[in-house]
Amino acid sequence: MVEAVPSGNAGPSGNAAPHRNAAPSQDSACYRIAIVGAGPAGLFAAQHLVSRPDVPVLVDLFDRLPTPFGLLRYGVAPDHTSIRSVARALARTFDSDRVRFLGTVELGRDITRRDLLGAYDAVVYAVGASDDLMLRVPGEDLPGSGSARQFVAWYGGHPDAEPQSLRGVHSVACVGVGNVAVDVARILAKDPATLAGTDMPEAVLAELARSEVTDIWIIGRRGPQFASYTTKELRELLATPGLAVSVEADAFEGIDSTSPDRRTAANIEALREAAGRADPAPVRRRLHFLFWHRPIALHGTERVEALELARTALGPDGAVVATGQVRTIPADLVLRSIGYRSTRLPGVPFDEERGVVPNREGRVLDGAGRVLSGEYVTGWIKRGPIGVIGTNKSDAAETVGHLLEDLPPLPRHPEDPLPGLRLQGVHPTTYDDWLAIDAAELARGEALGRARVKISAWSDLMRLCRDGGPDAVPPGGTPDSPPPQTLY
Ligand code: NAP
Repeated sequence: MVEAVPSGNAGPSGNAAPHRNAAPSQDSACYRIAIVGAGPAGLFAAQHLVSRPDVPVLVDLFDRLPTPFGLLRYGVAPDHTSIRSVARALARTFDSDRVRFLGTVELGRDITRRDLLGAYDAVVYAVGASDDLMLRVPGEDLPGSGSARQFVAWYGGHPDAEPQSLRGVHSVACVGVGNVAVDVARILAKDPATLAGTDMPEAVLAELARSEVTDIWIIGRRGPQFASYTTKELRELLATPGLAVSVEADAFEGIDSTSPDRRTAANIEALREAAGRADPAPVRRRLHFLFWHRPIALHGTERVEALELARTALGPDGAVVATGQVRTIPADLVLRSIGYRSTRLPGVPFDEERGVVPNREGRVLDGAGRVLSGEYVTGWIKRGPIGVIGTNKSDAAETVGHLLEDLPPLPRHPEDPLPGLRLQGVHPTTYDDWLAIDAAELARGEALGRARVKISAWSDLMRLCRDGGPDAVPPGGTPDSPPPQTLY
């Protein structure tokens, strides 16, 4: 066993001398670990790996984007600024000279599973959930029907996000009663002037400022006692200035006020309170909670104009069944926020039914349920799209614990894989390239009287990477043609 590698050389959050993070300690006696995905799950895994002074590891954090932080940067609502402290804590992962960021490298496009297994002592897949579930009802493909995931990516400034237009949109239906629906409803409900303090791209702020949305619907196929949003998020939405809230009276029928758990009881209380209060003056937007309804069709000629819903109830086995009653609400934009789904990683086992990589406590399993040596998984691709950012910490601890137990007595891969990758034509962007993007976003913010303005165009991001360091070369293709759309 060799001595531990020292850590802590730089401050990605801007509190110490910046480093290039392209050539950390390359001690040949260190274990080399690849983590695919530099979002919260991957970053927590890296932190756990380098926190063990008795196990010398070098961690390469790959990401298909030139920016680390994944869902923390692109999925957390921009007005949730308190999460920035989590971002700062996760950024400290790169303070360690044992952690290297290799951006714009995509598994399946630039490198293969075989490449990784041939160059590293262990590989951890932490790619999150980049797809979303479909309603599978007629009319879902009409313009004006989309996923909350795409909408969130747009207002979060993701480089792959398609621009969204709110022109002519008066009524928006969010299907699903989870935190994503609540986030989207809040962003649509807020006075855009209050969003200037966020890091949203300017074009997004401008589009929200033009919004003519008057009505926002949140639609649950079950009752408020089954809603999956958290009370804090619900209360925040209900407290939006100028927001009138309607909840149909029968939503509360059949709720046994003695039995619900604390969260459910608090959710129902918040909803009852909001439903019973007088409308604000003036009413800026109206939020309608519609429970016990599920979409059966989207209607419209050239684009969505209405959403047809079936009244639902619980069947004897607890499944949601249609009662036969149908109603239609006006909707110019329908956003399904019914859950995310991970996608198959090329060559890596995948459970299509559950939408995860099959695993036992983070150890990847093959089709026969046998543990695959050297392959691990953490985050949403391990457990499914559930839990908040912090859930990833304990999840990563479990995976990394097993990884460390499984490491062979001596490292098997003494060589730095980076020169070989370059020979293959793969030119990762570096952590310093991200720092150049970071600095440019702050400068753009300063010029506009805002704290930060996200840079969302691939061409701008890659230009900053090129200008920021000689190693930064865009991956195959021109910078203006975005890679296939998958979001971490
Ligand atoms: P979610 O919490 O799983 O909620 C999905 C909702 O969609 C549920 O209400 C579900 O109803 C409904 N649904 C599923 N399939 C449906 C269908 N076919 N038709 C109608 N409704 C359907 O998912 P999410 O909102 O996407 O959130 C994902 C995760 O991210 C959650 O863990 C969430 O807490 C987290 N998140 C947290 C924050 C935050 O902390 N601020 C923000 C965003 C996301 P049923 O219950 O009946 O299945």
